[in-house]
Amino acid sequence: MLLEPKAGIIYGPVRSRRLGRSLGINILPAKTKACPFDCVYCQYGWTACYTSTIPPDIPLPDGNAVKQALEKTLIGMKEPPAYITFSGNGEPTLHPDFDGMVDVVNAIRNRFTPSAKTAILSNSALVTEKSLRRSLMKLDRRIMKLDCGSPEVFRRYNQPYSGIDLEKVTQGLAELEDVIIQALFSAGETGNLDMSNIESWIERLKRINPKAVQLYTLDRDFPDKKLKPATKKGLFRIKKSVKKIGLSAEIF
Ligand code: SF4
Repeated sequence: MLLEPKAGIIYGPVRSRRLGRSLGINILPAKTKACPFDCVYCQYGWTACYTSTIPPDIPLPDGNAVKQALEKTLIGMKEPPAYITFSGNGEPTLHPDFDGMVDVVNAIRNRFTPSAKTAILSNSALVTEKSLRRSLMKLDRRIMKLDCGSPEVFRRYNQPYSGIDLEKVTQGLAELEDVIIQALFSAGETGNLDMSNIESWIERLKRINPKAVQLYTLDRDFPDKKLKPATKKGLFRIKKSVKKIGLSAEIF
């Protein structure tokens, strides 16, 4: 079953495969996925609000709402989270005041749970903007998506909104410091496992020089039934190729 988009601002803490005990922050519209991608494997199903700019008539939480919701949750928690993570109903950097949201969350973290790290799970679509890269750098961890090396596979697999260009995304990621790349590989007719895509993806990793690469496959339901999970052996082969260029890689 596909996941229902979140109804509120705070969710969890969830046991994240990659982050441990993570408290999620959803700064996107309630119960609607908003994203400049329409990935064939998205656990929320096809993108309802497909855009690179959220229309002004769609209500979004403001800094005050995020502050109140996060403070209330942290006060009620017995054990502090390991991470406070921007994620939720799509791409968090679509929020028009993403920078303000980062400041609010960092300030509350410092006050209520200084041991927790702040992080984002992002699809990298808007990393082409210098001001956004500055906001991302205020977080402790930036986990940024790059599933494809070939522009054709990118268009079919991630289905980016018009104007989002893989070459510019790669350049934006290369200009971001201490980035962690997350890549989801799937087999099947609409998957991204063909050799030429993987080879050009490796070339992009060389340019980005991430501090780590996280590899994973389908773990939940997905909308495109032509996809299949990658095998352990397939992921292991990709991990070996990443390590060969001197980068650290892990399978989740
Ligand atoms: S980037 Fe994430 S939220 Fe957006 S469509 Fe892809 S998997 Fe879903």
